[in-house]
Amino acid sequence: MGFREDTRTWLEENCPQSMRRQGPVPSGGITVTNAQPDAREWLTRMAERGWTVPTWPKEYGGGGLSADEYRILAQEMRRINAREPISGHGTTMIGPAVLEFGTEEQCLEYLPPIASGEIKWCQGYSEPGAGSDLANVQMRAVVDGDDYIINGSKLWTSGASEADWIFCLVRTDPDASKHEGISFIVFDMKSPGISITQIDLISGPSDFCQTFCDDVRVPRRHLISKPGNGWTVGKRLLQYERTSIGGASGGHQKVTTIDEHARNYIGVADGKIRDPSYRDRVLRVSMDDAAYQLTVRRTAEEATTSKAPTFMSSFFKLYGTEQNKLRTELLVSLMGTQGFGWTGDQFTPGELGATRGWLRTKANTIEGGTSEVMLNIIAKRILGLPD
Ligand SMILES: Cc1cc2nc3c(=O)[nH]c(=O)nc-3n(C[C@H](O)[C@H](O)[C@H](O)COP(=O)(O)OP(=O)(O)OC[C@H]3O[C@@H](n4cnc5c(N)ncnc54)[C@H](O)[C@@H]3O)c2cc1C
Repeated sequence: MGFREDTRTWLEENCPQSMRRQGPVPSGGITVTNAQPDAREWLTRMAERGWTVPTWPKEYGGGGLSADEYRILAQEMRRINAREPISGHGTTMIGPAVLEFGTEEQCLEYLPPIASGEIKWCQGYSEPGAGSDLANVQMRAVVDGDDYIINGSKLWTSGASEADWIFCLVRTDPDASKHEGISFIVFDMKSPGISITQIDLISGPSDFCQTFCDDVRVPRRHLISKPGNGWTVGKRLLQYERTSIGGASGGHQKVTTIDEHARNYIGVADGKIRDPSYRDRVLRVSMDDAAYQLTVRRTAEEATTSKAPTFMSSFFKLYGTEQNKLRTELLVSLMGTQGFGWTGDQFTPGELGATRGWLRTKANTIEGGTSEVMLNIIAKRILGLPD
């Protein structure tokens, strides 16, 4: 049997029916423990085949698939509307960075628990004085025998209170230039000296945290790459993150199209969306979505020499997230007053999800680097404009 037929048969036999529609995707650790039984079963089956991280080498828990095989798997998952078995910082950020910069021992230690969903990771980049100006990180890591002693705090660490491990940018050499004094280190969130404060937003409690390190002892073997090379590793990880936030790393699920939504909420006359101004807006968003997806595909096909992302990730992050805002704004606008629901039986779960989704897209253009910062990178690194 060929790869496509084999994949199709396996998915038909192994993807639970409840995983063939949109819904929550666990991101490792406790989120897997707390997931629905079908979601856990789906994750286990996919992980056994290495298909939670299909292109990673088999020895690290991956499926060892070629780019072509991966494309077929994605197509076949999309065909039955199969949900991703796992998402999160492990598979989309730290895993690819470790694959690229980690030693064999580090790959063997960190990657299999990501592939199996055992571990949930969080990201320790931002600090009170280091957001857009990320190279200003001040968290200190000082060598003490075989360990580093870490002091300082990280801000906006999403999901830190339920994460098992964290990856951090730390300052190992305060005398070196701003970028060269940074190193990249990972450690267990249960290490003595770590405390976490959850941050309340104007909308109430959130999963944002401030993570404090007070004399946290971390074995030196947890440093990824050389001391002082953290900026290089950290930037590459951001490229993976930005590609993912921009929706350019390949989701498999079918989503209800904006055209279908418009037809449901506005109605149809002569086979067309009833209201001409909405018809125009829906057409524009649909065309821009299609053009963007083709650009993403072309970029992937052109990247024959290296699988690593490039500065195009800044373009994906900028365009994908700004486009997300436009699409979700149009979506709630099409729903009329049904698009303003927060709770209550008069709204369907889909409507409540749409309102929350619309608000969440605002954060998309900030996390992983703001749209303004993406424009700066595009100006300098892609267009070659002077500083
Ligand atoms: C949903 C969400 C999740 C996040 N999760 C994490 C996480 O898990 N871990 C983590 O470490 N961080 C996380 N962050 C933090 C995020 O990385 C920062 O918020 C982001 O980098 C911006 O930094 P800042 O908030 O300090 O804003 P600032 O850097 O203070 O920027 C404020 C404003 O000034 C603009 N600006 C700043 N510098 C320039 C410039 N040079 N040119 C033009 N405009 C500029 C910015 O665009 C922005 O509009 C998250 C943020 C969000 C929204």
